Amino acid sequence: MIQVKDLHKYYGSLEVLKGIDCVINEKEVVSVIGPSGSGKSTFLRCLNGLEELTSGQIIVNGHNLADPKVDINQVRMEVGMVFQRFNLFPHKTVLENVMLAPIKVLKKDKEQMRKQAIELLKKVGLADKADIYPDRLSGGQMQRVAIARALAMNPKVMLFDEPTSALDPELVGEVLAVMKELAQEGMTMIVVTHEMGFARDVCDRVIFMDQGIIMEEGRPEDVFTNPKNERTREFLRKVI
Ligand code: ADP
Ligand code: MG
Repeated sequence: MIQVKDLHKYYGSLEVLKGIDCVINEKEVVSVIGPSGSGKSTFLRCLNGLEELTSGQIIVNGHNLADPKVDINQVRMEVGMVFQRFNLFPHKTVLENVMLAPIKVLKKDKEQMRKQAIELLKKVGLADKADIYPDRLSGGQMQRVAIARALAMNPKVMLFDEPTSALDPELVGEVLAVMKELAQEGMTMIVVTHEMGFARDVCDRVIFMDQGIIMEEGRPEDVFTNPKNERTREFLRKVI
């Protein structure tokens, strides 16, 4: 589904990604962990074309992002993204937030999309909130709407950038539960997270990033119980 070869990314003279190689298979659920500033968000943004790559290659669902002729809008439709901050449209209802992009971008029929959006809201446990405005929701509810909104585009891959980091602790579980269900349904997912329990229990693979490179990766049970790299060990000592 995703193939990354020797990806480098500079901001000016600052080299943030220093040669990333990785392959993400269809239906795989991968967590990316690592210290702040290690390039995790930059990496995700490169994967859906929000950042231009400086050098190297990324192929996402057959689209070559290094090709100047790549249809970046098509890539963004196929790669859904959920951020730490929810960015819901404040003047639209919950239902409208979910319906909007498919109608505008994919030219979907409004009534058909309304039905689909209600189904998606059911899936994230918020069917009863369809007609209210985002400012009446808790952070956990907003984030679940953001997930439903991303799913409304029918993406092939979902990227999550610390989706629970801005939430009060008691709201984290409801968002992780929705993500877990999505994973079990076979969605291909890359999740940057500090939730080590989620990384351990739900993900097929863990990638540890530090200083712009992948320092270590493997099955969660291996990385968490027997990290090979000293920096991984040090990081896990601090967060677990
Ligand atoms: P992480 O998500 O792991 O915390 P980021 O990818 O956000 O790391 O950032 C990696 C490095 O790139 C940091 O040093 C950060 O300051 C820098 N950086 C991120 N975005 C930009 C930007 N738009 N312009 C300049 N520097 C940036
Ligand atoms: Mg980040």
